[in-house]
Amino acid sequence: MTRDFLQDTRDSYDVVVIGSGLAGMTAANTLARAGHSVLLLEQHYKLGGLATWFRRPGGHIFDVSLHGFPVGMIKSCRRYWSAEIADRIVQLKHIRFDNPMFSLCTSFDRQDFTRLLVERFGIAPATVEAFFDHARAMSHYDDQQMSTRELFEQFFPGREDVVRLLMEPITYANGSTLEDPALSYGIVFSNFMSKGVYTFQGGTDKLIHLMSDELRRNGCDTRIRCPVERIEVRQGRVCGVRVHGRTIRTRAVVSNANLLGTIFHLVGEENLDPQYIGQARAVRLNNSSTQVYMALKPGEMIDEEACGDLLFTSTAPAFRTDLLLSREISSRTYSFYYPKTRPGHDRCLIVASTNARYGDWAGLPPEEYVRQKRELTESTLAAAEKYVPGIRDKIDWLDCATPVTFRRYTGHIDGASFGTKYEGLAVSRSLPQQIAGLYHAGSVGIIMSGWLGTVNYGVIAANEVDAFLMHGNSQLNPQSTTDP
Ligand SMILES: Cc1cc2nc3c(=O)[nH]c(=O)nc-3n(C[C@H](O)[C@H](O)[C@H](O)COP(=O)(O)OP(=O)(O)OC[C@H]3O[C@@H](n4cnc5c(N)ncnc54)[C@H](O)[C@@H]3O)c2cc1C
Repeated sequence: MTRDFLQDTRDSYDVVVIGSGLAGMTAANTLARAGHSVLLLEQHYKLGGLATWFRRPGGHIFDVSLHGFPVGMIKSCRRYWSAEIADRIVQLKHIRFDNPMFSLCTSFDRQDFTRLLVERFGIAPATVEAFFDHARAMSHYDDQQMSTRELFEQFFPGREDVVRLLMEPITYANGSTLEDPALSYGIVFSNFMSKGVYTFQGGTDKLIHLMSDELRRNGCDTRIRCPVERIEVRQGRVCGVRVHGRTIRTRAVVSNANLLGTIFHLVGEENLDPQYIGQARAVRLNNSSTQVYMALKPGEMIDEEACGDLLFTSTAPAFRTDLLLSREISSRTYSFYYPKTRPGHDRCLIVASTNARYGDWAGLPPEEYVRQKRELTESTLAAAEKYVPGIRDKIDWLDCATPVTFRRYTGHIDGASFGTKYEGLAVSRSLPQQIAGLYHAGSVGIIMSGWLGTVNYGVIAANEVDAFLMHGNSQLNPQSTTDP
């Protein structure tokens, strides 16, 4: 007999949240805390979305996206989750760069970057100051035509080494390019520069378990293995979701699924006006990633002084976005996990990540896919030898993920690691004007991506849903009148 993953769910809820990524969980928690009845539906067998981990024989636990986030996560977690979660957020103090232009270590904050830019790169202090102030002051009201390339050209003309220092980590952090709006760069960069890079002590598994406990305490009904097939719409308003062949009625839905998947698969074009459809079609997805996971044998330690916490490496002579996406990998970012990551655990692990294109991996014949994964693992081990001498003899477990893996576990179109490009933000934000009661929260537009961006977006969506549930249907769009 197949198990009923919806056993004992009610027929209706105030809100249904589709997807348990950080935005979905945060929206669900905020709404449940506010006293609404909330059903959180996750298609996968565990919560967390891309904020995830996996276990392998020998007691190894790999984190997938716990590499670093800005300090703002402490405040957001304290306010919208719990003190216990916020108190486990700690700084990663050693961020390293190693490429043909420079090799250095930094605490990755404004003070230390100012020191480096002035002393090491010879930039005038006033220019550095002006750049930081300019980036910090950027807002959505600014001219969004300026690209990140133009921003750098304005402050550091002809300085490819400076561009590399400022841009490479952010490209890794959210897939943004020199052609993206300067605004998206400025906001993310300034968030990191305010106080450096942070991580969650205890690992992603601990974080998601604490969040799951909190959801339960606040009365949220959380279900795994529940893929929503359809968001049901009547007369321009949300009226339910279809899951496991059952309709669950609701007045509001927060979709944490991929933005384009929400619009084209869960809602359907027939419920949306053509202009909006056109706008949605123009939204570009962000790139995906590959990762090679390396667990060292028990007792094998990594030299923390030499490797640091995060290491941005490249063998390319200059920084170019297309090189970062190329199958001929020249740039890798290593996350080193020491026993302190999971206090009480005695293992050292390394995760090497690259940006990647879905198209380069999808559709390969199975044997070729396996061969290419093996090749990726081998070339990563060869590259890592420079930082962890004798690494092959120290390895206890190896694994590898590709854009196809990310697509498979989260349903993200093209395995997008960071949702959509900047234009996705307006489309995501205007969904409630198309269908009353329907909200989207999840990685879009670089700014609302990553752990901090998605937690904050979950709060924003929850506040809007709360207002909608309390005050009714002010956002009903008269053009959307489909009555199924
Ligand atoms: C390799 C990699 C490294 C990263 N490193 C970092 C990092 O160091 N720092 C950082 O801040 N960010 C990092 N990120 C990005 C960060 O993990 C994501 O931006 C963030 O976790 C996404 O959260 P989200 O709320 O958008 O939802 P997601 O995590 O995308 O989750 C969406 C959820 O919706 C579920 N879902 C989809 N469709 C349905 C459906 N129809 N029914 C039910 N459920 C559904 C999915 O299964 C999934 O659980 C990384 C991402 C990747 C891939």
